[in-house]
Amino acid sequence: MIPKTNIEKQLTALSASLAPITPEVEAWAEKNIFLNWAVLSRGKFYCLQCAHSWKPDNVSACSKFTNCTACKGKLKMQSYNQVHFKEVEYFAVLETCAGYQVVRVVIAYKHMKKNFTPTYFCKEVMQHWINQKGDVRSFSIGTNVFSNAIDAWKFYSPLEIKPKDFLRNAKYYINPYKVYPNIKVLALLKRNGFKNSVYNIAPHLLFSSLLTDPTAETLLKAKQQNLLQYYLGASRQRVKQNWQAVKTVIRNNYNIADVQIWEDYLELLRYFKKDLSCASFVCPENLTQAHDRLVQKKRELLRKKKLHDLRLEIEKAQKRYASDKKRFFGLFFKEKELSISVIENVRDFMQEGDDLGHCVFTNEYYDRKDSLILSAKVADQSVETIEISLSRMEILQCRGFKNKPSKHHKQILSLLSQNLYRIKERLQKKKKIVS
Ligand SMILES: [Zn+2]
Repeated sequence: MIPKTNIEKQLTALSASLAPITPEVEAWAEKNIFLNWAVLSRGKFYCLQCAHSWKPDNVSACSKFTNCTACKGKLKMQSYNQVHFKEVEYFAVLETCAGYQVVRVVIAYKHMKKNFTPTYFCKEVMQHWINQKGDVRSFSIGTNVFSNAIDAWKFYSPLEIKPKDFLRNAKYYINPYKVYPNIKVLALLKRNGFKNSVYNIAPHLLFSSLLTDPTAETLLKAKQQNLLQYYLGASRQRVKQNWQAVKTVIRNNYNIADVQIWEDYLELLRYFKKDLSCASFVCPENLTQAHDRLVQKKRELLRKKKLHDLRLEIEKAQKRYASDKKRFFGLFFKEKELSISVIENVRDFMQEGDDLGHCVFTNEYYDRKDSLILSAKVADQSVETIEISLSRMEILQCRGFKNKPSKHHKQILSLLSQNLYRIKERLQKKKKIVS
């Protein structure tokens, strides 16, 4: 993009005045940001670092690392045997220029091939210029617009200033793997707590936050790196919501082992109405244990609450049920060891449903106005449940365990048919009283 505003023109001139990335920096990168690799090919190990190859005594292809017998390097095994190997990493160089903090982002390649020592290639692909107010303007070389790959750079295009919202595109949001240790930062950043580490946070994000957000400054100065990372990683709102607890953490110099678990744990503390300014709650010695204990406690509580709610629900249903079907209560037919009786309690519907594995309780048969539900028992054990239509005075269904007929099915039906008139009597008696 062609620089238009004064700021853009000034930054473009400043950017052009920066010295190129020095060979010292590139040498540091070659040594420090890559792994050393080996590959197994036709029963031989190849060190991709020193070009040595050797036949091992016993080949364990599945091991992840091996040691080179010549350069003694610890080598990571390549999982694929191919001709060319490459490793790609980003690193950053931190400089200052004309009152700006500059973050230079460099892509580095390591090319490897069996029987050769590796070759390297570095290219500066982005620059972030941060002013004292924390505003960021970025430069970038061109990219292949159709690709989302991390290295789809057009290496022969120049660094150009980009629009203000450039970094909103996640593709350009690069957090370099390492920072060149010879760091130069603005005095203002030092005043706001920056010492010498970016704590795995993208440097441009850390710097602009330290210049604009007192919360970031507080967390950094209190050495709460985990919280700071979490805070800057799109969870600002949540850290702010928990600010009371965060203050307790800072006051007690507490190290949060896992911020997400800790937040979960805070939710639980809140649920149990615990004081979030009290270190004995907020800063547990063993976070996972404390978290698990509260999870267990809450689960137990919810279970009890559910049972309690169910009990209340049953009581309510019982009142309705009794007023609907009371006239049938006490009906009892018996023949030898088989007895059939009207179910009188909603609680017994639950028992019947549990015993026979059907839905007479779950589907609230006790609330069906036109139905009368009876239970057939042999030796006090439910064997079938019967639904009778009161308006048609007929058996709608008669089902045993898991809705299958029991071996008493025929006997039950015949006993019922003989006694339907007694149900009818009770129905008519009631009607007479009403009329
Ligand atoms: Zn070697």
